[in-house]
Amino acid sequence: MVQDLRSLDFSEYVDWVTRLGQPKYRAAQIFRWVHREGVADFQRMTDLPLELRQRLVAEASISAPKIRKLLQSDAGQTTKLLLELDDHQCIETVLMQYQRSTTRDRITVCASTQVGCSMGCRFCATGAGGLVRNLTSGEIVGQIYTCNHLLARQKGSKKVTNVVFMGMGEPLMNYRATVKAMRLLSDPRGLHISPRRITVSTCGIVPGIKKLAQEGLPITLAISLHAPEDSLRDFLVPINQRYSLRQLMEACRYYVEMTNRRITFEYTLIRGLNDGPEMAFKLAELVKGLLANVNLIPVNATESDGLLAPEPVQVNRFAETLARLGVNVTIRESRGGAIAAACGQLRATSCCH
Ligand code: SAH
Ligand code: SF4
Repeated sequence: MVQDLRSLDFSEYVDWVTRLGQPKYRAAQIFRWVHREGVADFQRMTDLPLELRQRLVAEASISAPKIRKLLQSDAGQTTKLLLELDDHQCIETVLMQYQRSTTRDRITVCASTQVGCSMGCRFCATGAGGLVRNLTSGEIVGQIYTCNHLLARQKGSKKVTNVVFMGMGEPLMNYRATVKAMRLLSDPRGLHISPRRITVSTCGIVPGIKKLAQEGLPITLAISLHAPEDSLRDFLVPINQRYSLRQLMEACRYYVEMTNRRITFEYTLIRGLNDGPEMAFKLAELVKGLLANVNLIPVNATESDGLLAPEPVQVNRFAETLARLGVNVTIRESRGGAIAAACGQLRATSCCH
């Protein structure tokens, strides 16, 4: 089988070049081209002898997604990409360039981990179509490499600084490829993105959270909570029927104990369902003592669900109640609404063909 080099980590490069009968330093050279430069064409690996390049063409491949559509909004600060994979499946990736006067520019990629998703959360456009397949680690990191290529065309030689796994799919249902992708992205021989600048968002896969706690990767964990009581969460996030809030919060406490990292709880606000003061009280009670951040996201409209966002004044009231109860709370600024790139709106159905 032809080996996809984007899915291999450094130790696998060393094994692989050894099998080819090549000296070990070739591993570092090729790894750099693939994982730092994002190069997908062996002929561009100019420090390799021609003969070796030809051999690589025959015995290896580099799976690079093709840009099928590119949509921009927020005065060019948000770019949504529709990417076609080798088997013609499509995923969506969002590149966000925030200009801040106080901190240095942050360039964030919202990356996908699966084609579709099997979790079926009530308000999510990705979940509505079911799961097609997991992405490989090469397909996951490839989204960031493609974004870096786009950035290279702009002036200022900027690169992606932050990655959030909040695109299509449930990262912890594609655990191995996601963790491998995070290690590849943070490898100093590659893009060297600090794990602290990587966020994994999960709807609450309890065994995955516990495993992640043991990886020794100081990433940020975000939990898509959305409801502070089981009956409502069973409805909004059906995986709650399998892993209850009690089990989820226990896994979160374990994660904090093991990693000493803060957890972010995402809470999508839906008018009349989870935006009342009693919900704010229950939410504050739930995250008490956890050093948590709560991120409120007024729900984005999707085509089918009929769920509405609360009025801004209600969103602010909910946030104030939480703050009074001692919770660190922020309201997420929605970006990309005009091009359906906001949270939960990524769904590639009629693409590619
Ligand atoms: N599967 C993972 C990551 C992808 S979803 C997860 O569920 O956490 C990223 C975030 O967008 C999650 O918090 C999700 O609940 C939220 N989201 C999904 N649909 C949304 C919508 N229509 N409006 C606002 N947020 C939504
Ligand atoms: Fe899947 Fe996340 Fe959407 Fe739920 S919110 S269906 S877990 S992508």
